Amino acid sequence: MNFSWDDSQVELKNKVVKFAQEHLNKSYLDQDKNCAFSREDWQKCADFGIQNLSIPNAYGGTLDDVGVLGVTFAMEGLGYGCNDNGLPFSINAQMWTVQLPIAHFGNEDQRNKYLPALASGKWIGCHALTETNAGSDVFNMETVAEKVDGGYIINGHKRLITLAPVADIALVFAMTNPKLGKWGMSAFIVERGTKGFSTSSNMEKMGMRTVPIGELHFKDCFIPEENRLGKEGAGWSITNHSLEYDRCSILASQLGAMERQLEETIDFVKNRKQFGQSIGKFQSVSNRIADMKLRLETSRLILYKVAWLKSQGKSAMMEAALLKLQLSESFLSSSIDTIRNYGGNGYMSQNEIERNLRDAVGGVIYAGTSDIQRNIIAELMGL
Ligand SMILES: Cc1cc2nc3c(=O)[nH]c(=O)nc-3n(C[C@H](O)[C@H](O)[C@H](O)COP(=O)(O)OP(=O)(O)OC[C@H]3O[C@@H](n4cnc5c(N)ncnc54)[C@H](O)[C@@H]3O)c2cc1C
Repeated sequence: MNFSWDDSQVELKNKVVKFAQEHLNKSYLDQDKNCAFSREDWQKCADFGIQNLSIPNAYGGTLDDVGVLGVTFAMEGLGYGCNDNGLPFSINAQMWTVQLPIAHFGNEDQRNKYLPALASGKWIGCHALTETNAGSDVFNMETVAEKVDGGYIINGHKRLITLAPVADIALVFAMTNPKLGKWGMSAFIVERGTKGFSTSSNMEKMGMRTVPIGELHFKDCFIPEENRLGKEGAGWSITNHSLEYDRCSILASQLGAMERQLEETIDFVKNRKQFGQSIGKFQSVSNRIADMKLRLETSRLILYKVAWLKSQGKSAMMEAALLKLQLSESFLSSSIDTIRNYGGNGYMSQNEIERNLRDAVGGVIYAGTSDIQRNIIAELMGL
């Protein structure tokens, strides 16, 4: 494993940081307050080439040039430069759980139809797995796709779906043969406007309020066979394939946010004076800073290891679970420590210190809760 970055990777990351700092930090506080999604910022990212990073060159993307390690480093830069944690989160969700599955499992027609539209910002895509009775227990899924002449009829619902209220397409998972359990699940690309398919409006949440989240509803919704992604029964392979990349890249942006948070906190504790000295000179305060640094650097090592394994085409199930657990819990702990170090100012919404804490809570839930990551780690160790 080589942890040194080449010049092109460093240059891309620096460019992403500069772009984010200059173009994405204008109105995120109002957006957070009003739960407002900015299609304009989404488009700016597409114009810069962010969404394109997970698309193979053959379909107009840059994945083959940049590589998984380079993309991870660039997405770390996006998280560092963009003060709004929601935007990198939602872009990552589309890049790895919609674009990548289409690139990897789609046929030529599907790749040519959907990938350029998603990369250019014209379309937004969401990934729909979760249901009322199927959260961690994915295979308790009740949404069914019944085979009919020329396609499938989908009935059911999805909830907690990132970008659902604004998505132009949804990658939807449904049971085509419930008796087969995980091997009876298939994936479908459903376009907005399809008869029998509707989405809810945005549902308010505590953090990442700039990202719309909502429900999908299917009532006798006919989907032509050509919109099935991969073979019938390939749903579990499709979602599993994208999860390792998704965890790696979403968390890369969180690592960038943690670095920004640490730098800002160090700056604050150096300048804030109590009892005639900088509060950073009090060991209770500096110990918290040391813990934040430790969390950042241990998370960084696992992140780069996962990215390196994926860049080698290797499986990273254990490492991706370790990363998800370590990095998301670290961001949460460091966000509480940051508030402690800022004192009362940290608690006040107007100072935007508490926003990271609200955003970080989501990280220990989405893409598999921390409990589920511990289960995966234990199981992979034979327990
Ligand atoms: C911000 C955000 C964005 C999301 N985006 C998407 C999306 O785009 N697409 C999508 O499909 N879903 C999405 N989700 C849903 C997310 O994947 C689920 O919330 C998550 O998998 C947990 O499911 P649940 O909420 O039903 O909780 P439950 O599964 O009901 O879990 C409740 C509690 O029980 C624990 N628990 C459950 N089973 C076990 C077990 N076997 N062992 C130990 N503990 C267990 C959990 O860890 C948790 O503490 C998103 C969620 C959030 C918060």
